[in-house]
Amino acid sequence: MATKPELMTTTGGNPVADNQNSLTAGPRGPVLMQDYQLLEKLAHQNRERIPERAVHAKGSAAYGTLTITHGLEKYSKAAVFRQGAQTEALLRFSTVAGEAGAADAERDVRGFALKFYTTEGNWDLVGNNTPVFFVRDPYKFPDFIHTQKRHPRSHLRSNTAAWDFWSLSPESLHQVTILMSDRGLPRSLRHVNGYGSHTYSLINAAHERFWVKFHFKTLQGIEYMTNAEAEAVVAKDRESSQRDLYTAIEKGEFPKWRFFVQIMPEADAAHYRWNPFDLTKVWPHGDYPLIEVGMLELNRNPEHYFAEVEQAAFSPSNIVPGIGFSPDKMLQARVFSYADAHRHRIGTHYEMLPVNRPKSPVRTYHADGAMRFDAPKGTDAYYEPNSFGGPVQDARFAEPPLKISGDADRYNHRDGNDDYTQPGDLFRLLSPDHKERLFSNIAAAMAGVPEEIVQRQLVHFHKADPAYAAGVARALGVTNHAAGK
Ligand code: NDP
Repeated sequence: MATKPELMTTTGGNPVADNQNSLTAGPRGPVLMQDYQLLEKLAHQNRERIPERAVHAKGSAAYGTLTITHGLEKYSKAAVFRQGAQTEALLRFSTVAGEAGAADAERDVRGFALKFYTTEGNWDLVGNNTPVFFVRDPYKFPDFIHTQKRHPRSHLRSNTAAWDFWSLSPESLHQVTILMSDRGLPRSLRHVNGYGSHTYSLINAAHERFWVKFHFKTLQGIEYMTNAEAEAVVAKDRESSQRDLYTAIEKGEFPKWRFFVQIMPEADAAHYRWNPFDLTKVWPHGDYPLIEVGMLELNRNPEHYFAEVEQAAFSPSNIVPGIGFSPDKMLQARVFSYADAHRHRIGTHYEMLPVNRPKSPVRTYHADGAMRFDAPKGTDAYYEPNSFGGPVQDARFAEPPLKISGDADRYNHRDGNDDYTQPGDLFRLLSPDHKERLFSNIAAAMAGVPEEIVQRQLVHFHKADPAYAAGVARALGVTNHAAGK
């Protein structure tokens, strides 16, 4: 505790003589308009919130360090991947569907959003604790999110909406299976893996491109809660994840994740048995083994939640030389929509806020707008090209050309796409008691869902593995009509 408090001031820097009593005409009031400090306090209170994130509103974050123990120079020229490199990082975990005040111990995907403050600018890897996603075409992303949010009339979450959409969108089965398995309800944020999920590209100094998937595996081990355990936690503590992460770091128990990549040579994409740019699919480890790269450690709590966590803005569009995008349609859409969400939520120049600001120099020609803090001094170079020594492009940072082909059309992404083998593979690797929990978690999540939708979903479970549909039907106490199909 500070022993000698410092002088309190107004936002204009003027000393405050009285912060206890409003300025009134007589002891009973009324208050005077002249009490600008009262008015300013009330006005600021009205503006203490920014729009919460439409998704991933409830979050917890900490700073840490990424250390590269096995340099990736063979695949990427990015400084962040050089042997021995240490890069400061911010990791924000979140639930997806709940609002900012929602309980932490809910069955939901966990966001795993990383910002690396590299020497070449910020690299954001905005992932989840799951390697896949519910949809593969961004056209369906807003529809999917609507099913996770509240019903417009009842203002209640709707199991019917969720299963109606999922049962009409077989590409969701893989992610639904993970969500309903033990990993859908983590014991704490320290006990989840992180996945970049999308396929990205790496580019090396020789200008060769490789496709890449990023994995962070928890050293704390995967731990989960049953629905009943989580209900008991929520009854007493809605902030269980925040409390666990914050407390562990305050105690010096720094959580760690081992960092891996899977690498695919550029040419493999054309003939690999899975579309490597389909966000609903993994690359089986047997095909593309995990390559160890380094260690991520979280070791510092933010000083101010609002400034550093609520205002933290992660976007896959933050990419550094040596790391690039891929044709993944969902990634292409997120490259736009995440940055756009922050422009709306925080303001035009949100990347100039301390938590978002790169540690390396920033020299753009962006002009005015909300929160323009960094006015360049006395320059005539406020457009480009110019004759006044303003910053210029450098072709050394250009990516090698990417060959693409095809007729512009709206291609049916469900045509001939195998949505069942990988969820089936996952189902088959679960232990018998884990399978039982999967069945009962699904039955619980289907409470109140009309029989027609349940039967439609059972067909998908059946196609993944007949034992999957049979187990869910048994847990629900319904006839498994899918069995005969
Ligand atoms: P492997 O036997 O090589 O890998 C199985 C992987 O399954 C494990 O490494 C583990 O991933 C993951 N896993 C185990 N339990 C769960 C669970 N409850 N929820 C989600 N993932 C779990 O087989 P494959 O690589 O051929 O993959 C088989 C299936 O495993 C896939 O269809 C996919 O559903 C799932 N999986 C695969 C991943 C991949 O990148 N290949 C990543 C994650 C899941 P981890 O090691 O990452 O903890």
